[in-house]
Amino acid sequence: MTPQKVLIVGAGVAGPALAYWLTRHGFRTTVVERASDLRSSGNPIDVKGPAVPVAERMGLMPKLRGLATRATAITLLHPDGRAFARTALPTGDAAGVELARSDLSSALYETARDDAEFVFGDSVTRMHQDPDGVEVTFGRSAPRRFDLVVGADGMHSTTRRLVFGPETEFATDLGMYVATVPLPPEAVDLPHDMVLHNTPGRLLAIHPGRDNPLALFVFRGPSADGYDRHDTDRQKRLLTEAYAGVGWRAPELVERFRTHPAPFFDALNRVRMASWSRGRVALLGDAASSVALFGDGSSLAVAGAYTLAQALAEHPGDHARAFAAYETRHRRETDPRQRRIPPIIAALIPRTGRGVAARNCTAGAALRLSRRRLTPLAAVG
Ligand SMILES: Cc1cc2nc3c(=O)[nH]c(=O)nc-3n(C[C@H](O)[C@H](O)[C@H](O)COP(=O)(O)OP(=O)(O)OC[C@H]3O[C@@H](n4cnc5c(N)ncnc54)[C@H](O)[C@@H]3O)c2cc1C
Repeated sequence: MTPQKVLIVGAGVAGPALAYWLTRHGFRTTVVERASDLRSSGNPIDVKGPAVPVAERMGLMPKLRGLATRATAITLLHPDGRAFARTALPTGDAAGVELARSDLSSALYETARDDAEFVFGDSVTRMHQDPDGVEVTFGRSAPRRFDLVVGADGMHSTTRRLVFGPETEFATDLGMYVATVPLPPEAVDLPHDMVLHNTPGRLLAIHPGRDNPLALFVFRGPSADGYDRHDTDRQKRLLTEAYAGVGWRAPELVERFRTHPAPFFDALNRVRMASWSRGRVALLGDAASSVALFGDGSSLAVAGAYTLAQALAEHPGDHARAFAAYETRHRRETDPRQRRIPPIIAALIPRTGRGVAARNCTAGAALRLSRRRLTPLAAVG
């Protein structure tokens, strides 16, 4: 039988993982990535839970552990900047590994690059399905025909827009924004700690990275209606206004964000769809089911890629059954995490001063309690 030709849109996390598994199952795979190379934000992401056995089967875990960030603890600060609790981050196989998104993306790409075709600096502009295949038009390359297409092109998926409809139909605005900006090593006081500072509606954190520390801002803001995610000046104004009057190191970190030429900034959405496939086109990763930064998005991208490839291999020539099997199995991982987003947000970014105080009180008490149980923990401040 002629191998089926699959186009994967996006070489972030889900895309190269799927390319690896599909080529192992005998598919001919092409990955098209809009960016000209794999350089991307150093935002820290995890490979944990259902992604660990998949990465192990790919022989990747030792490499990923070697790329882990230095963060081994979390320190919590009062609004006035005083540290009140410190706890070790979980370790061991179940805890997985935290690393920069760019490192994970590159490591996955390395596993797939020899057997799949990668096209950088291009994007899809049109997809037309007929009973036998999908005719795909690109921004730069000549049109090509594929048996199947998988959109692994992230939260703002073009594949989803072209085949399923506009983003507004599937994305719920969480009323929050996330931003990061790189920091020089000397800006980090605690080289192994993720330091979290809360004021009402705002989280400000310093993450040590591996050798690329960054400041992370997550804040409740005005509705993202009409928000243009390419308007950097407006993003800088939004963030500056949101953190005005915040103490601790906010003025200095906001200034770094304001003066950086291309900091990372996005509105936070939750993507939910009634179905992840339409005909010969399926969605994977954040494109299908984004949990923003609150629920193992990168781990779900890796695990989902494995499940989708497995389902396609189990149902040769029957993409409809394969896509249905993938969706049934993988929703068992994504749906519970989507439901957990509201309580996670409430705990991570309390809306009011009273909420921050109550959360700090509960967190401090929980940490003291777990210290009595001899978990690796130390209270500070
Ligand atoms: C600040 C921040 C912190 C996070 N922290 C965590 C964390 O701690 N743990 C966790 O599990 N997750 C975290 N996440 C979420 C995680 O990054 C995503 O869930 C994960 O990257 C999703 O992988 P993906 O492959 O689906 O999409 P992405 O990683 O977004 O990759 C999509 C790829 O598609 C490409 N692309 C987009 N449009 C097109 C197009 N039209 N044509 C071709 N290519 C295109 C993009 O350039 C990109 O390379 C965080 C996210 C952010 C923003």
